[in-house]
Amino acid sequence: MSDTQRYQLTQDHRELVESWGMNRRTVSYVFRPTTAEQIADVFTLAKSTGRTIALRGAGCSYGDASLNAEQIVLDLSRMNRILEWDPDSGVITVEPGATIRNLWLYIIEDGWWPPVVSGTSFVTLGGALGMNIHGKNNFKAGPIGDHVLAFDILLPTGKVKHCSRDENGELFHAAIGGFGMLGIFTRITLQMKRVYSGLLRVNAFSTTGFAEINAALEEHRAQSDYMVGWIDAFSTGKSFANALVHTANYLAPGEDLNPAQTLRVVNQEISPTIMGIVPRSLLGKLLQPFNTNPGMRLINLAKSIQASVTESGHTILQPHAQFAFLLDYVPDWKFAYKPGGLIQFQSFVPFDQSERVFTRQIELSQKLGIIPFLGVYKRHKPDDFLMTHAVDGHSFALDYPYTDQNKAGLSFLVQQMARLVVDAGGRFYYAKDSLLPADLARAGMGEERIARFAAIKSECDPERILRSDLSRRIYDGFAG
Ligand SMILES: Cc1cc2nc3c(=O)[nH]c(=O)nc-3n(C[C@H](O)[C@H](O)[C@H](O)COP(=O)(O)OP(=O)(O)OC[C@H]3O[C@@H](n4cnc5c(N)ncnc54)[C@H](O)[C@@H]3O)c2cc1C
Repeated sequence: MSDTQRYQLTQDHRELVESWGMNRRTVSYVFRPTTAEQIADVFTLAKSTGRTIALRGAGCSYGDASLNAEQIVLDLSRMNRILEWDPDSGVITVEPGATIRNLWLYIIEDGWWPPVVSGTSFVTLGGALGMNIHGKNNFKAGPIGDHVLAFDILLPTGKVKHCSRDENGELFHAAIGGFGMLGIFTRITLQMKRVYSGLLRVNAFSTTGFAEINAALEEHRAQSDYMVGWIDAFSTGKSFANALVHTANYLAPGEDLNPAQTLRVVNQEISPTIMGIVPRSLLGKLLQPFNTNPGMRLINLAKSIQASVTESGHTILQPHAQFAFLLDYVPDWKFAYKPGGLIQFQSFVPFDQSERVFTRQIELSQKLGIIPFLGVYKRHKPDDFLMTHAVDGHSFALDYPYTDQNKAGLSFLVQQMARLVVDAGGRFYYAKDSLLPADLARAGMGEERIARFAAIKSECDPERILRSDLSRRIYDGFAG
């Protein structure tokens, strides 16, 4: 059987494909190729049947970025080999389906760590480049694209282009962050970060209100490698926007007396049980009864009190993996949001506007009684990628439960919050979006960037085969 025959739009390829936030489920024809030739065959199939293709890595985007209802989904997770690794220079080449977890497990014992990671390690490198992910070090290290040396991209026309800053530089800067609309990363080369210990020095302190957290982040910015704030959106009055802030630093050479031990994988991971008894996999279920405003208010309050007693003002040494991927050690925590799921709304606002906009976002949420269960605050710097989401300012990522009862109110709330962002010259992050209306999404990006991206898309994908539910929702007209 030839590959072209193997890829048919048959019932056995029809699958339920879900957004990570479980807020949207679609049925698509799903293909999981392992070679560039097989990818090309899926394109042949799409062209001959008049279908479109959405690319999917691990499906960790909260909304519809890798969904394509009733069309084709090209799942790249089986193309997950590490192709080359040089432990002297820290340069690694991977297939797009390799995950950040695959990466750190492979390199850490040689004294390297991925320079930029997301809050979960389960994302693929293809997906990470597709969205140009940022970490808690964005203010210093920039997005992952800043650490990409080169990639091969397979275009829907069948051409493969090798891209770096010097070769096909325009495509390099458009495809990274191009949400899978221009072509498929098939081979990615990245520079890893040298580390001299498996531990980070982590400090914690509390703040109240956005003016205070902004001032604290500015004070710590120059000397910190990572910074993140966890803001309690239930807090009101004098405690409004209570936050626990973590800053972290790499250890300098010689500070860790036994780096060979701390860099060992076994010393990075958290035990699968709590206090040796309760399996962490049960936590998602245990949290389910708290999936209500009063329940989450209680959890946020308990977290604030526990943090101010045991964490605030303290310094600890913490393994990289535990600091970076804490939520990965609570398997299926998102199931606490079942049956409706969750959405995240992450907006990026310039420095001088962020206090006002984010204060107002919480006030609006509280007024409507639709309060985010989790609020994560970060400092960012601008980058030179075409479809960038970063600004010189802050981002606030808000997790809201998504239910039959609140969905209309939530859409209204998102629009109100998004309007504030646009008016302040801010941006949105498509990896976290589920509900942005097209006009506000476009206003956040700006028509000039959209026009440049559309022109590049016309060259790379003249038949507009690469599309997704996200691209249809926000960019109908050029990529949709
Ligand atoms: C718990 C959690 C925490 C997170 N924390 C962060 C964070 O701290 N920072 C952050 O930036 N993001 C964060 N994210 C979002 C996540 O990093 C992004 O959504 C990322 O893109 C997911 O990668 P994926 O492999 O799952 O890709 P998918 O979600 O499957 O796809 C993402 C995009 O990449 C495209 N794509 C996938 N593979 C390829 C390819 N080979 N070639 C071209 N395009 C491709 C897709 O079309 C899609 O547009 C978090 C997500 C979760 C669930």
